[in-house]
Amino acid sequence: MTEQANTQNAIPTVKLLIGGEFVESKTTQWREVVNPATQQVLARVPFATDKEMNAAVASAKQAFKTWRKTPIGTRARIFLKYQQLIRENIKELAAILTAEQGKTLPDAEGDVFRGLEVVEHAASIGNLQLGELANNVANGVDTYTLLQPLGVCAGITPFNFPAMIPLWMFPMAIATGNTFVLKPSEQDPLVTMRLVELAVEAGVPAGVLNVIHGGVDAVNLICDHPDIKAVSFVGSTKVGTHVYNRATQNGKRAQCMMGAKNHAIVLPDANKQQTLNNLLGASFGAAGQRCMALPVVILVGEAQQWLPELVEKAKTLKISGGTEAGADIGPVVSCAALDRISGLIVKGESEGARLVLDGRNPQVAGYEKGNFVGPTIFTDVTTEMTIYREEIFGPVLCILNAATLDDAIELINSNPNGNGTAIFTRSGAAARHFQEEIDVGQVGINVPIPVPVPLFSFSGSRASKLGDLGPYGKQVILFYTQTKTITQRWFDEDEVGGPVNTTITLK
Ligand code: NAD
Repeated sequence: MTEQANTQNAIPTVKLLIGGEFVESKTTQWREVVNPATQQVLARVPFATDKEMNAAVASAKQAFKTWRKTPIGTRARIFLKYQQLIRENIKELAAILTAEQGKTLPDAEGDVFRGLEVVEHAASIGNLQLGELANNVANGVDTYTLLQPLGVCAGITPFNFPAMIPLWMFPMAIATGNTFVLKPSEQDPLVTMRLVELAVEAGVPAGVLNVIHGGVDAVNLICDHPDIKAVSFVGSTKVGTHVYNRATQNGKRAQCMMGAKNHAIVLPDANKQQTLNNLLGASFGAAGQRCMALPVVILVGEAQQWLPELVEKAKTLKISGGTEAGADIGPVVSCAALDRISGLIVKGESEGARLVLDGRNPQVAGYEKGNFVGPTIFTDVTTEMTIYREEIFGPVLCILNAATLDDAIELINSNPNGNGTAIFTRSGAAARHFQEEIDVGQVGINVPIPVPVPLFSFSGSRASKLGDLGPYGKQVILFYTQTKTITQRWFDEDEVGGPVNTTITLK
């Protein structure tokens, strides 16, 4: 055996989960999972064969026959156990996440925690999957609804929240009585797989949760497979639009949460230090790789004078490997992502924006091979520029100015995306005006990243979302169930029959 083959064998492989078994793929196509801070190869992930993917769907279809009838309390108890296991293992989960994705350890723990909240929500399924009943809608007639599971559902997840977003999907789908096929991001599947192992340990039965790995082929199989009834997707707008069109043309339900270009408005009456801190955290935290990051800030009126202080504060953020104490910004996920971000910064300059803070090529001691880019700030940005139009998905902040709040609102509503937004002000009237007029799904008022807790549903508008119903909260119960409406009447044995009723009226 050659030395190269020996090294290959030493690298762990990511398994598929089919019918309750973690199995090695027989594929010939593999991709490396790489630590973005060091370039160390952590694992190899397979691109599953058609046969393996079909076996995963078949196993989910088979398991649905019994899982759909499993008592709601049994389902809830599995998720009670699951939330406990996630809590007990949160440090390990965060460490796996940081190693493969790059975000800092505290942020990785936050990623797991926001997913854990959805697992807790799934544990309360008994209170969520309730039908309605109207007594005596006609003489002796009652009408009620059942919320019944759909069958096999599938989820396709992005790289930037490899814990939270899989946990947005399979716990709620399974808790409502469906079975599931998950396709994690091929860039960082390791923490997702550890969460899947814990779900199995918590008692999710064989075949109820299955995992396939891959890229385009896996996604297309999910969209086309006749036994898959609903598809949840989170990722870029380009891929999400493709998934939505293909899945819905094949008669499936689909919810696609997609790309973003979130703006914050800063009014001059805002609490200055709070606002600057919040802007920096939301623009540069997770190296700008959050769909709810704030890559655009609109300074209104005299707030424009805060720019020098914002830039000075940005310089104080610590760039380092995510495991280093005090690190504020870790590496971006891949060399390709770094090249793309660097290319967009060059483009910003060439199109006339003013680069007031250049974060390229930072020297990061101990992580010389990492994919680092530090806080980068552009001013004099116009809405025609590529850096404004495209989602950069890196720590690059575009500053725009507006004379009035209404001008700023108009700017945001003219952008095609509608994922998240925020306003910083101490004026209740201004905040309320903003809340009413803005056409964006998630709105923060002095809250920079207003991701809703699972009592509510994640939303999004315009180019950021396709499908009516969002992940978690009340909406996802409707997404993962079919409403059946039952109208019933019972006759005693001695009930006297009247004339034949040829009308549609219930009497
Ligand atoms: P991505 O679209 O590249 O990948 C998402 C999934 O699609 C992955 O599982 C990937 O394997 C698959 N995929 C990639 N290219 C494909 C193709 N050509 N055909 C079919 N499938 C393909 O997204 P990403 O880079 O992993 O994640 C970042 C994006 O996700 C950003 O645009 C971000 O805004 C978005 N995002 C949105 C939300 C939200 O809730 N709106 C949340 C997180 C991330």
